[in-house]
Amino acid sequence: MAKVLVIGSGAREHALAQTFLRSPQVDEVFVAPGNDGMQEENLTRLPIGANDLDTLVQAAQEQQVDLTFVGNEDPLILGIVDRFEAAGLKIFGPNAVAAQLEGSKTFAKEVLTTNQIPTAKAVTVTSQDEAKTAIANFDWPMVFKLDGLALGKGVTIIEDQSSADEYLQSLYQKDPVAKLVIEEFLNGVEFSIFSLVGQDGRVVHTPMAQDHKRRYDHDRGQNTGGMGAYSPLSWLRPADAKQAVDELVMPMLAAMADRGTPFTGVLYTGVMLTAAGPKVIEFNVRFGDPEAQVVLPQLQSDFYQLILDLLAGKKPEVHWQSDDVYLGVVLAAPGYPQAPEKGGVVPTTVELSPLTVNYAGAKLAENGLVASGGRVATVVGHGEDTVRAQALVYDVLDKTHGDLVYRHDIGHWAVDLAKE
Ligand code: AMP
Repeated sequence: MAKVLVIGSGAREHALAQTFLRSPQVDEVFVAPGNDGMQEENLTRLPIGANDLDTLVQAAQEQQVDLTFVGNEDPLILGIVDRFEAAGLKIFGPNAVAAQLEGSKTFAKEVLTTNQIPTAKAVTVTSQDEAKTAIANFDWPMVFKLDGLALGKGVTIIEDQSSADEYLQSLYQKDPVAKLVIEEFLNGVEFSIFSLVGQDGRVVHTPMAQDHKRRYDHDRGQNTGGMGAYSPLSWLRPADAKQAVDELVMPMLAAMADRGTPFTGVLYTGVMLTAAGPKVIEFNVRFGDPEAQVVLPQLQSDFYQLILDLLAGKKPEVHWQSDDVYLGVVLAAPGYPQAPEKGGVVPTTVELSPLTVNYAGAKLAENGLVASGGRVATVVGHGEDTVRAQALVYDVLDKTHGDLVYRHDIGHWAVDLAKE
């Protein structure tokens, strides 16, 4: 029997742990550091931070872990894969160089443009003067992105000259050499492709998903880490999905291999389906959160074996359910994302039954689980179509949500299009 180590502490990592526990070959899943909501049998938390690479290597050796899977991007960008591999430990993810696809927006843009992969036109600037000159070459609105990791919060859509002036003034006052990417605004529908990439060109694409990044219903309010997701996407034409894989994902993987920095792990392609076809918005080097929570439960075959086969360059057996829509709603602490309130009551898995619960910012207190972070849990249900999946999830949530808040319209795009 096998032991798996999952790295990270959010709802995505909870879903990963549950998916590994469904493998008949896995008898124990460790999660480092995990959170107090992770209470499954055969799931053991290790009190080690996701960025504490030395201690993680040591723990994987001590616990004789057979496979490590990294949930969040920080350890990947820090080089956890290089470290584990150097210690002879099996791990699924990109090395530090390939993880630059997420770690540096400039790196990703450079590989995209050199290889003529469709994406928004962009320039990188490092001074206020340069920025002022560069924006003359773009139409309004345009997009400003801070280089480096910003957890989905480093992107601002700039509507006009005065907003641009204000933004640049404030940015370059703080840091006169700040690296800023100025980008063409892409109009269209967004969706995410997750590709599990192994050795020797082995790639498995999961069903596609759509996230809801804005805090409030009807996509209003601030950008967040993600307020809910659903999958598969009934409205996405198979031809468009195929075009996105063939023209965006596969050429990127080929480009990474050609430049001597092959990518292994989960490649997350953020796609904008525009009038001119699909274009890349961004790459990430791990599963999306909350998308993982609605994609992983659709896998009917053995996830552990799938990852082992990919790492060995073998053709894996993969079977996804195709009957239902899986819909996940994020429960957040009031005040998220600016100032999440801690200490609110968090519903239990029994109270949320029959939904699947993946906890994130949840902590055990005397009176049970309480909120300890912004996003506290993702609850997932499934139904024959998006309307039924929504009915199931919201029936439970509207009765039981403790002190937490959530969006009421996850899946609205699929529902609106089905009405047309
Ligand atoms: P990113 O951190 O690059 O994923 O961007 C976060 C969000 O900002 C995306 O999911 C989009 O909704 C939006 N966004 C980013 N780049 C663009 C763009 N060029 N055009 C339109 N929207 C964008």
